[in-house]
Amino acid sequence: MKYVAPSSVEEATSLLSTSPSAQVFAGATDVVPQLRAGRPAPEVLVDLKNIEELVSVANDGDKWTVGAATPTANLTEDQAFSDEFPGLSEAAGLIGSDQIQNRSSLGGNLCNGSPAADSVPAMVVNGARAVVAGPNGTRVLDVAEVVTGPGETSLDADEFIVEFEIDRMPARTGDAYLRMIPRTEMDIAVVGAGARITLAEDGSIEQAALALGAVAPTVVRVPDAETALVGNTADDETLSAVANAASEACNPIDDKRGTVAYRKQVAGVLAKRAVLIAIERAEQRNGTN
Ligand SMILES: Cc1cc2nc3c(=O)[nH]c(=O)nc-3n(C[C@H](O)[C@H](O)[C@H](O)COP(=O)(O)OP(=O)(O)OC[C@H]3O[C@@H](n4cnc5c(N)ncnc54)[C@H](O)[C@@H]3O)c2cc1C
Repeated sequence: MKYVAPSSVEEATSLLSTSPSAQVFAGATDVVPQLRAGRPAPEVLVDLKNIEELVSVANDGDKWTVGAATPTANLTEDQAFSDEFPGLSEAAGLIGSDQIQNRSSLGGNLCNGSPAADSVPAMVVNGARAVVAGPNGTRVLDVAEVVTGPGETSLDADEFIVEFEIDRMPARTGDAYLRMIPRTEMDIAVVGAGARITLAEDGSIEQAALALGAVAPTVVRVPDAETALVGNTADDETLSAVANAASEACNPIDDKRGTVAYRKQVAGVLAKRAVLIAIERAEQRNGTN
């Protein structure tokens, strides 16, 4: 196995186009355990962390740009980003441990294709977009379009994600991410719930987004819950509709971490709680950025 560390996007795309069995990596916190577990090794491992755009966090006034290989620790330690997107920052801060977060990236978390990846529901509710580089230039995909099944993505073998674009958080808007794990830390989500709420000036809910992880082959949006929220306040009836819609949207598996019935029940509870936290945060964000 050859190791290469290109210093530009062009160099990386040309390596991928000319080496049919090349694989990119960022933190390798998924790749190394997979190789150790016996997954066939690529001929060339392409380290993305040497490319400047891929390891930076910036804000140009209209949007944030997060390099796809940026260590998630850099994101959680970025105070301005974390103040604006507390839910996404918290999701990134739940990945593994401090050691893992000094390596792990949003690009790797997404492209590994785990249904339980913590940052993905939080990116989806915030409408994050992936800028994908390939031999013919770049294209932009909604994050929700990247993963097509467990371990599968819609990217071609010679493409990789350069960065994520996330529009600035509007006024009266808040996000939240909660997950349930069987242990206190270092475990994979039984359910993850990301929510984002925008309030109207009268305090009712103007926009709502809810996405669940670990309850289906890919992250699922819950349109029935979003419809139940819009135009209402978070009263008992609305929250109960949110919980029911979240449970219904699940198509989970039975495994050692939880049964189908347990996952459905927990999805309803976490969805309600994430919505309430997002509303509380939206109430605190009256001004624009
Ligand atoms: C001890 C431990 C605890 C963990 N805990 C959690 C947890 O709590 N929550 C959680 O969600 N995950 C957890 N993980 C999994 C892992 O840490 C995360 O998925 C992490 O975000 C992966 O990022 P990475 O940069 O290390 O990915 P890598 O291992 O570098 O890559 C993962 C996959 O993505 C591909 N890839 C990487 N970057 C790109 C890119 N820019 N474009 C296209 N493809 C790319 C690689 O080819 C590979 O297939 C844990 C892992 C370990 C070892």
